[in-house]
Amino acid sequence: MIVVKVGGSEGVDTGSVCADLAEWVSDGGQAVLVHGGSHEANLVSEKLGHPPRFVTSATGHSSRYTDRQTAEILAMVMAGKISTLLVERLQKLGVDALGLSGVDGRLLEAKRKPTLRAVENGKTLLLRGEYSGRVERVNVSLLQSLLGGGYLPVVAPLAISREHEVVNVDGDRAAAAIGASLRADTVVLLTNVPGVLADLDDEASLIDHISLDEAEKALECYARGRMKRKLLGAIESLEAGVGRVIVADGRSDRPLQRALAGEGTVIQ
Ligand code: ADP
Repeated sequence: MIVVKVGGSEGVDTGSVCADLAEWVSDGGQAVLVHGGSHEANLVSEKLGHPPRFVTSATGHSSRYTDRQTAEILAMVMAGKISTLLVERLQKLGVDALGLSGVDGRLLEAKRKPTLRAVENGKTLLLRGEYSGRVERVNVSLLQSLLGGGYLPVVAPLAISREHEVVNVDGDRAAAAIGASLRADTVVLLTNVPGVLADLDDEASLIDHISLDEAEKALECYARGRMKRKLLGAIESLEAGVGRVIVADGRSDRPLQRALAGEGTVIQ
């Protein structure tokens, strides 16, 4: 059982990922695909006249301010276009893919964070009406019944809050939570870099192996921005019993096959 997250950044070759997944499934493997969509969502937000707003937290992290309208745009893009086109591609390859977001059947239940603290021009602001959260529970029996029925679930990283609202969740951590709930052998996070780099400006500085003990240190020393979430997710899923997490290049041909062969950063 593998869980694959394919990033939403530019350059990631989703066609090759789907082709590799089709091969995995035809060899008798089971898989769940989680996808991003931030780049596309930003473009659609601009077109709809509701441009994305990114804020910086007191600790220097950048995050998207997800007001209700943004949450609706994310649903439209991620659970709509991106999910449907991935399903279309997989179906063309003979895989019985089925798209759903974390809202459907309460697949992903999250704790909503209703406010966002931001620092702008040296001042701290408290933005209300935030619709993002952290996955607390995965409806594993729903996933198991889909997998048992021969479907390949394609999951958009939205979740439902305890109060039954749509919330935006981080795709890497959603993949990690799904991997943990299924006790997956491998969680593969495909992105637009070769893996975890010691020097972000040098693709040759790839760290090929990180042990669970070293992962916290790597998180502090190397990872910035969104790479931090991948490592956080990796630590959480390894602690929950996932065999290994691989952060690998989604831009190459045969990206999934290469990652499963150990290319990229293997966290174990
Ligand atoms: P995706 O949507 O493909 O998952 P993200 O933007 O979430 O992509 O994460 C990948 C990004 O993380 C890279 O493009 C890179 O800019 C950033 N990053 C930060 N620190 C590191 C690091 N140490 N090694 C590699 N990438 C890093």
